[in-house]
Amino acid sequence: MATPATATTQTNPRRPKRGTYRPRPETLALLKTSGNAINGVGETTPRQASPFFWHPPDMHPFGELQAYARQNFRKCPGSDEAFKAAYDFPELVPVSETRNLASPEELTAQATAFALAHEADAVGMTPMDPLYVVAGYTIEEPWVIVLELAHNYERLKEVPSDETNSVGMIDIADQYARGMRSSYALANWIRSQGYYAKPYPGSGAAALLHIPPAIDAGLGELGKHGSLISRQFGSGLRLAAVTTHMPLVATGPDRFGADEFCKTCQVCTRACPPAAIADEKQMVRGQDRWYVDFDKCIPYFTEASSCGICIAECPWTRPDARPKLLATMARRLEASQSFEEEAVETTR
Ligand code: SF4
Ligand code: SF4
Repeated sequence: MATPATATTQTNPRRPKRGTYRPRPETLALLKTSGNAINGVGETTPRQASPFFWHPPDMHPFGELQAYARQNFRKCPGSDEAFKAAYDFPELVPVSETRNLASPEELTAQATAFALAHEADAVGMTPMDPLYVVAGYTIEEPWVIVLELAHNYERLKEVPSDETNSVGMIDIADQYARGMRSSYALANWIRSQGYYAKPYPGSGAAALLHIPPAIDAGLGELGKHGSLISRQFGSGLRLAAVTTHMPLVATGPDRFGADEFCKTCQVCTRACPPAAIADEKQMVRGQDRWYVDFDKCIPYFTEASSCGICIAECPWTRPDARPKLLATMARRLEASQSFEEEAVETTR
């Protein structure tokens, strides 16, 4: 399949020309060990993810690199104020002694409506899986609610950010701030209904992985760039979550053809300055999946103020391209399903 042209790669002056990026020696000096090994690349047995970048610095070997990344982010005008909002969270209210005894279907509808009215742009529910929890942490709640916060595409496509232009980075911070507010608001609403709930906003990594429950909750598919691709927002989104004892109904998964499309698309592979995005899936902790080479991505990510080029360039992120892609992939999935059904029939 032909892939849509990249609209901004050639014109954005902050992006290095393909093949020209070289990490600074001081950045490489801080990458003391391979993040791919810690992530379980090549491992064939499923296991929990290990604590990683953005976890407390004593939990992994990238603490100094994180500090260097923050130092680079701070060079972008307005980023301090924007990220302050992303870390500003309200108090959690006590769990009410009076319980909302509506059915799981009704509670799912009520929680969804509340979240959508409090800054979330899409909402999904999935039962907890121990593999969503990072090793060394414990989560006892049986349900995960995942919230999507959509980027402003016009702002996102300005990435990467630097001293001369921080539009993209401010939009990233703004979405994390919305995730902070919406996850805390939803957790407090659930608590007011008599059920325990805990927010996991996306501005700092914590006990809960976000992408695996988002996929299971039907909020998107994993893209070749290692991020979520959603029907509604493409790759232009950030995630937050709430774990809870409130009984709910699972909302996913949802397959609309993003994984299939990635097999032939190479837009992010070509746009990534350090060539960190592989064209083939890899075995990671027992799962054959898309995976971004951490050791190649993270030097550019730290130097280029959290980068974001791959999600901005993904054709699914473009509001003008997304409806056409959805229609094309729906036809393609339908055709392959009919083919599979025919094959089953003929072998009976
Ligand atoms: S975030 Fe990482 S993988 Fe994505 S374009 Fe930037 S360097 Fe490449
Ligand atoms: S993640 Fe987006 S840009 Fe990358 S291969 Fe898939 S569809 Fe193309």
